Amino acid sequence: MSRGLVIWLTGLSGAGKSTIAVRLDQELRLLGRTVTVLDGDEVRTHLSKGLGFSKEDRDTNIRRIGHVAGLVAGHGGVAITAAISPYREVRDEVRAAVPGFVEVYVRCSLDELVRRDAKGLYAKALRGEVANFTGVSDPYEEPLHAEVTVDSGEETVEESVERILDCLERLGHIWRGVRPRLRTGAEAGALREQARSLPVLEVGPHETADALMLGTGAFSPLPGFMGAAGYAEVLASGRLPGGHPFPIPVVLRLDEEGAGRARGASRVALRHQGEVVAVVDVEDVYPTDPGREALSVYATDDTAHPGVRLLQASGPWALGGQVTALRRPDTGFPTYDLTPLEVRAAKAERGWATMVGFQTRNPVHRAHEYLQKVALENLDGLLLHPLVGETKSDDIPAATRMACYEELLAGYFPAERVLLATNPAWMRYAGPKEAVFHALIRRNYGCTHFIVGRDHAGIGNYYDTYAAQRIFDEYTPAELGIEILRFEHAFWCRRCGQMASTRTCPHPAADHAVLSGTRVRELLSLGQPLPAEFTRPEIAEILAADARSAHAEGANGQALAADATAPA
Ligand SMILES: [Zn+2]
Repeated sequence: MSRGLVIWLTGLSGAGKSTIAVRLDQELRLLGRTVTVLDGDEVRTHLSKGLGFSKEDRDTNIRRIGHVAGLVAGHGGVAITAAISPYREVRDEVRAAVPGFVEVYVRCSLDELVRRDAKGLYAKALRGEVANFTGVSDPYEEPLHAEVTVDSGEETVEESVERILDCLERLGHIWRGVRPRLRTGAEAGALREQARSLPVLEVGPHETADALMLGTGAFSPLPGFMGAAGYAEVLASGRLPGGHPFPIPVVLRLDEEGAGRARGASRVALRHQGEVVAVVDVEDVYPTDPGREALSVYATDDTAHPGVRLLQASGPWALGGQVTALRRPDTGFPTYDLTPLEVRAAKAERGWATMVGFQTRNPVHRAHEYLQKVALENLDGLLLHPLVGETKSDDIPAATRMACYEELLAGYFPAERVLLATNPAWMRYAGPKEAVFHALIRRNYGCTHFIVGRDHAGIGNYYDTYAAQRIFDEYTPAELGIEILRFEHAFWCRRCGQMASTRTCPHPAADHAVLSGTRVRELLSLGQPLPAEFTRPEIAEILAADARSAHAEGANGQALAADATAPA
C-alpha cells in the first residue's frame, strides 16, 4: 500500500491536536510510512507568516496547509495536519482537493480547555483581551462527517491514537497485521451475559461464518462488516476506501424487520441456531445495491449464478460495524480448525520463512499434488487449506475430502513440509474476485505465496479461463502482501512418463491422461476407482467407497462431482 493520505486534525486550541500528531507520526513510521507533520503553529511562522486571524486569513492559511498536504499525499506520503481549521467550508474544500483525506475531530469541552489552559489564553480570551479567539470570541464549526471523532477530555492520548489508527485500518489506509476480535472462556461468557440485553438479529450460516472469520482476523484489515462507504468502494474499485485491496463485500444483510431493529441500536447480538455467536457495534445501516453488486462481484446478473441468486433472495439492507466473535469457527474438524494466528505460530515453530497456500474444495488429484510439489521445490512449507464452509450441494462432502487430504499428506508428502488446516469460509463462486479474496485470506493465515490455477473459484462458463490469474495484474504483490503463483492445468503424460503441463510437455493431447469431470463422475457413480495417473490409489479408493455408500443410501451418484484439474 503506498497510496497517499492526509490526516486532518481539527479542533480548538489546546485540544491536543499536536500531541496526537506526534504520536501518530511515530506509529505510522513504524508501519514504514513516510510522514510529514504540518503543525498549525509552525506553519504560521513559515508558510503563513504575516497572516492574521480574520476569517479570510484563516481560510488562506488552511488552503496553504491543504495544498502542501496534498503534495505530500500525491507522492504516496502521509501528511498529518494539526491546525484549528475552524471553518467547515474550507475544510471540505481541502477534502475535495486532496487524495486520501481523513478528517479527525479532536473534541474537547470548553470547561476542560479552560481548566488546562497552559498558556493562559482561554482566561485572557474569556476576559475579552484576545480578539478572534476560536471557541470564545470566534466560531468553531464542528465537522459533520469526520471519519473519526476523539475526545481528549474523555480519553487518553493512547486511546485517541488507537481509535484513529483503527479508523485508518478500517478504511484500508494501513494494515497492522492480523488482530483477532475473538472472546473465549470467561470473557466470552461475560459478553454473552451483556448480549442478553441487546437487540438480537437471527443470522444464517453465511453471516455466521463471516462474523467468526472477522473475529479470528481472517479478513484483516477488516475489523467488521462493511459500512456504506466500504461497500460502495469495494464494488467500484475492488479496494477499501483507503486503497487496500479487497474485492468482495463482507456484508451483514438484513430484511426490513432486522434493519428496523438495528437502527438506533449501538450494539446488536447475532444469533445462529439459538446461540449468540458475535456482537456487532453498529456504525451504519444502509441499503445495498444487489444489481450493481452482482455485476461487480460476479460479473453477471444471471440469476442462474448461485451468488446472484443468493443476492436476489437476501434482504435489501446491510449493517456495518466492528465485530467481536464469541467463539471460534467450528467446521466439525476440531484438530484442523486453526485460526490465522495459530497457523502463523505453527509456521514459525516449523521454521518456515515461506509458505504456499493451496485453496481447494475438491479431493486433491495428482494434478493438484503436482502444483503443490512444484511450489514446494522452492518454498519451505505448504498450507493445504481446504474450504470446508458451505459449498455447492453437489461438491464432495467435507468429511470425505478431509479423509483424502490426510491420506495424501501421510503417503506422499514429507510430514515436516506440510500443514493441513480448514478454511471455514463459504464459497461465493465469484471467480476472479474470489481468487483475490482467497489470496488475502491466505496472506492473513501467514502464507507468503498462493497458487492460482485456471478458472479459480469459477462456476459454469461465467469466467474466462485465465480471468482469475489476470485480475492479479490490478494489484502489486506489495499491496496484496502475498505473491501469486500462476499455474496451468497439469496432467500425466504417457510419453514424458511424468506429470507435466503444456508449459513443460511437447506431446499431443492424445498422450495425456486427462479425465473430463463427466467421466470422473461416471466412474465414481459406478463405484469404480479412478485411474492411478489421475488420482493416487488410496484417494481413489476413499472416493469409490464414498460413492458406493452414497449409492447404497440411495443418494444421487452425481453428488460426487469432482472437478478434474482446477485447484479451486
Ligand atoms: Zn509429454
